[in-house]
Amino acid sequence: MSDISSTQPDPSMIGGIPKAPFVRLPDPVAIFTRRAARFATLAATSELSPYLGFLASIAEAQAAAVPSLPPPELPDAAIVARAGQFAMPPLDRGAFKPDATLRATCACLLEAFAAISKPEAAEVALGRVHSADRPALDAMIASILSDSIPFETVAEHVYVAATLQVHFARLAARLDSAALVPVGVGACPVCGGPPVASLIVGWYGAEGTRYASCALCSTLWNEVRVKCLACGSTKGIGYQEVDGGTGTIKAETCDECGSYVKVFYQHKDVALDPVADDVGSLGLDVLLRADVYRRAGVNPYLIGY
Ligand SMILES: [Zn+2]
Ligand SMILES: [Zn+2]
Repeated sequence: MSDISSTQPDPSMIGGIPKAPFVRLPDPVAIFTRRAARFATLAATSELSPYLGFLASIAEAQAAAVPSLPPPELPDAAIVARAGQFAMPPLDRGAFKPDATLRATCACLLEAFAAISKPEAAEVALGRVHSADRPALDAMIASILSDSIPFETVAEHVYVAATLQVHFARLAARLDSAALVPVGVGACPVCGGPPVASLIVGWYGAEGTRYASCALCSTLWNEVRVKCLACGSTKGIGYQEVDGGTGTIKAETCDECGSYVKVFYQHKDVALDPVADDVGSLGLDVLLRADVYRRAGVNPYLIGY
């Protein structure tokens, strides 16, 4: 018997050529495994070696935790469908309430983080997170989800942010990518959050296309090139890199709003990772700061720098 559905045009193909998808949902184990390897590679040659090595261990713990965790609970299907109709993200960060799965994720990861070798200050900070009561922990979660981590307690928040990255990537992975729609300038279509950076990818059928990478849930979503991801302007866009750069890591600057978000040319170097290489290219932030551009990409691992 022939399959009738196979005679219908496939919306992901145009004239036999695959069409660039609007979103690519995360595969949590693959993402954190890849990130751990990238942090380790960068640590081998960077001046930030101890910190990058520490973050490699954090990403390793994130990847290792995923298979043992209970399944995360998505919002009701009706809420997800309604969000799509109104161009809203299905996971509402503002209304997020920590649930049993997040608490289990937190407990699992904090235990794993305890086994990582780290400097004294990072050890003390982890001890504070361990001994934090539920309201204190929930306050940290709320600060991270509203992108307002207090400077004085960044070290504590780094551990909780790593936990939330795992939880939200697992939630995002369970969504139906076909139901997701654009929700605003530079906003993740899954959780509504800002990007850490953007990637020019080399995927088959999407070569040279740009994807912004969510700082929280690791969803990648399509954005046109030469556009500010902070204000949406297509005017006054420039590109800067450090002296002697390889042309694979640049800052996309915007003269309209005075901000920048990094762009990684992953089609030229597939190893580039939006989070690891963002930390690894701190020199570019120092350069841009001197040029009075404001950093718009969000990365909890860079707040203290
Ligand atoms: Zn997101
Ligand atoms: Zn702008």
